[in-house]
Amino acid sequence: MYPTHLRTHTYHGLAPGPALLVLGAVHGNEVCGTHAIGQLLQDFDNGVINIERGAVTFVPITNPLAHQHKRRFGDRNLNRNMAPSAIPQDFEDRIANALCPLLDAHDVLLDLHSFHTGGAPFVMIGPQNNTGTLEPFALADEEMQLALHTGAPRIVEGWLDTYARGVQRRAANVEAANSRSQTLVTNPNYGVGTTEYMRSRGGYAVTLECGQHDDPAGVGVARHAILQTLGLLGIASGKPAPVAGQLEILRLIEVTDKAHAGDTFVREWRSFDAVKSGDVIGTRHTGVEVRAQGDGFVVFPNPRGEVGQEWFYFAQKRM
Ligand SMILES: [Zn+2]
Repeated sequence: MYPTHLRTHTYHGLAPGPALLVLGAVHGNEVCGTHAIGQLLQDFDNGVINIERGAVTFVPITNPLAHQHKRRFGDRNLNRNMAPSAIPQDFEDRIANALCPLLDAHDVLLDLHSFHTGGAPFVMIGPQNNTGTLEPFALADEEMQLALHTGAPRIVEGWLDTYARGVQRRAANVEAANSRSQTLVTNPNYGVGTTEYMRSRGGYAVTLECGQHDDPAGVGVARHAILQTLGLLGIASGKPAPVAGQLEILRLIEVTDKAHAGDTFVREWRSFDAVKSGDVIGTRHTGVEVRAQGDGFVVFPNPRGEVGQEWFYFAQKRM
């Protein structure tokens, strides 16, 4: 049965201030944010934490269809091709029609996710300030402050422009490949998720990956980040904890696609495994080795990725 509504909780401070939107379970099986939001709603209602300025809206389950099935997608990935549709084609289009006006009505977005393989939390930010056409932006300093205060030890940047370069390359190959999912591989809008949409509407946003899906510590990571954000923005009373030293900032440089079902990794990579220039990362089914283009890191490896789509990303430390 298809869910028929989207549940949100809004608190209005009685003094003026910014409006924060907090999302959980944009991917249905990523529930650390859902649980953290559930705890905090009780704390607000019991007066343990006071909302004083601006507003905060919580969406504990942003993709209720995916959540109902305990999986990442409902009909499709909600965190792609995010835009209102006059004629919705699937469940996620209908959610987007409710969610996009909500994003428009807020200034800042904290989107809480978790990931499949183990590893430390990380936070994804958008581009540096720029006036380009892909993702023009003027709030990089504010967004960086938010990222720093989430408590994640690692910051990752450069998602949309790296994704868009992959799209361009795929578009060049698409006729030859006769892809059955042309929209997906040829349209840069497909790289637009919650955070990219928020930036396109004049706000700023981070995606916090709180840890492995089933790691109970992820709920604490999400809860800490929400409280830090409320403090940083002055929505709740109390100053945020200071930023820890020694944060690592990684820039996504390149996406490599899977070209054939027989392409294999040489080992079971986890996100942020370090590689040296020339290290073999995988082997094409033809026997050709895929090597690291420099000293850096393998990010978002997807051994079960579809042919013609993302196999892994390569990242380097920001200079
Ligand atoms: Zn996710």
